Amino acid sequence: MRRFACGLLLGMAATPLFAADVTVLTAHRIHTMDAAHPQAQAMAFDASGRILDVGDAKALLARHPGAKRLDVGSATVVPGLIDAHGHVSGLGWAMLTADLVDTASKAEILERLRAKEKELKPGEWLIGRGWDQNDWPEQAFPTAADLDAAFPDRPVWLSRIDGHAGWANSAAMLAVKRDLSGDWQPDGGNIRRDGKGQPTGVFIDNAMALVDAAQPAASEATAEKALALGMRAAVEHGLTGVHDAGIPLEELHRYQHLADSGQMPLRVYTMADGNHAALESLCKNGLYRHPSGRLQMRAVKLYADGALGSRGAAMLADYSDDHGNRGLMVMSPEELATAADKAHRCGVQVATHAIGDRGNRVALDTYAKALGKDVASDHRWRIEHAQILAPEDLPRLAQMHVIASMQPTHATSDMPWAEDRVGPQRIVGAYAWRQLRDAGTHLALGSDFPVESVDPRLGLYAAVSRSDGKGLPAGGWYPDEKLTAFEALRGFTLEAAYAGFAENEVGSLAAGKRADFVVLAEDPLAVPDAALRTLDVRATYVDGKAVYEAK
Ligand SMILES: [Zn+2]
Repeated sequence: MRRFACGLLLGMAATPLFAADVTVLTAHRIHTMDAAHPQAQAMAFDASGRILDVGDAKALLARHPGAKRLDVGSATVVPGLIDAHGHVSGLGWAMLTADLVDTASKAEILERLRAKEKELKPGEWLIGRGWDQNDWPEQAFPTAADLDAAFPDRPVWLSRIDGHAGWANSAAMLAVKRDLSGDWQPDGGNIRRDGKGQPTGVFIDNAMALVDAAQPAASEATAEKALALGMRAAVEHGLTGVHDAGIPLEELHRYQHLADSGQMPLRVYTMADGNHAALESLCKNGLYRHPSGRLQMRAVKLYADGALGSRGAAMLADYSDDHGNRGLMVMSPEELATAADKAHRCGVQVATHAIGDRGNRVALDTYAKALGKDVASDHRWRIEHAQILAPEDLPRLAQMHVIASMQPTHATSDMPWAEDRVGPQRIVGAYAWRQLRDAGTHLALGSDFPVESVDPRLGLYAAVSRSDGKGLPAGGWYPDEKLTAFEALRGFTLEAAYAGFAENEVGSLAAGKRADFVVLAEDPLAVPDAALRTLDVRATYVDGKAVYEAK
């Protein structure tokens, strides 16, 4: 009866459910993230992957006689993890291109590039990503000349770890149609030049588009493969959902193709890439939802500023380690206003990348103006990263019902140099998870993969420890901003679901919701902080079906 009522309620086909269509999962512990029943030992779901019942094992087995059994023994089950900010094709491309993450010198980079070159055809571009000059002994931007000796003819194009700067060799710069010398600069970007006005090989923010455009386009098959690889990596790490932070319309079509053919192992909540064709399509055709429930587009990603590492984040005052520099706006306040007004008219959620305190203030001011009296409505507009907030802006997120979509691993990656950039006063409002939460802000967590690892265990660990992989600094960096393990898990489940208007479907385990869950060998709410990094992901389930099982 309970099952039948549930089916009717959800408008499912009125075919009777047979016992064999039901699976009862039993586990040592289930953390449901459902405030009414936080813990359980069993969960029943039907063949369509809808949860029927959550509770005590004995009672559930009695209520569902003849059901299939899925006993995970001593393991712990949690709701499927959702990364509220990632870049799926970026992750896939990173897997297809030279991985320069964690290189400690230019020599090490050249070594990895030479290895990757062996897979390429003559003349094919050598693409890589993940360098960070802060990790090199000289801590200075590289030049084209650093690459030219090893690669005199083959174009080489390498994006920085944050995706906000690119490093080209001379062959790649030669492929750019425009004369890169002189003193002109593209809007919202910077071509670094030497004293003679010649480009040095480093392109910041919007200037990267010049070199990107010179690259031959990838084939459709390769682009689809990148998406598939990215999604596969996500489910292997316990993710059942990802918010893809800014994709063009062609990419939505690529996803649709995969969804139509049942090739999406998890749910992807996509954002349109700025005020372009994808947003236009949402305005014209309405918010998009694939019938499988695996794919949506109902948000638009805007960019206020750049990133802190490359000093592109827009600051209200000069960088502490670069006087006269206040960073840059990637979209001007006028462009942001136009895009936000359009989104508001079309009922589209806005998610704005904002890192510096000026970037964040402009984003909040833009939201206040665009939303007007609707600021009190259920708009769920978000700020992506919200990294550095002026003290007076910190409470505004909660007041305006703006979600903070933050990445715990950004704090632990940036902590060695972040205070150099902004100084001891401004750092107090940086990566301020606890202050934001205590002010009543919804805090959705993610990783910004491939900027950081797609592995949410690292995010959980960073959130509770504010320490690096070696446990340093001991006790954590600005430890007052730590989250508890429960809050961190909530940020990667229910809060991330909320940020995607999906908290009635996923994010917690309760009757009527989707059976998206992860089986972990250990209990993430009971292990010491350091053990969160190595939680053993035994399996990932989406709609009640295993999309990943550990060997
Ligand atoms: Zn991002």
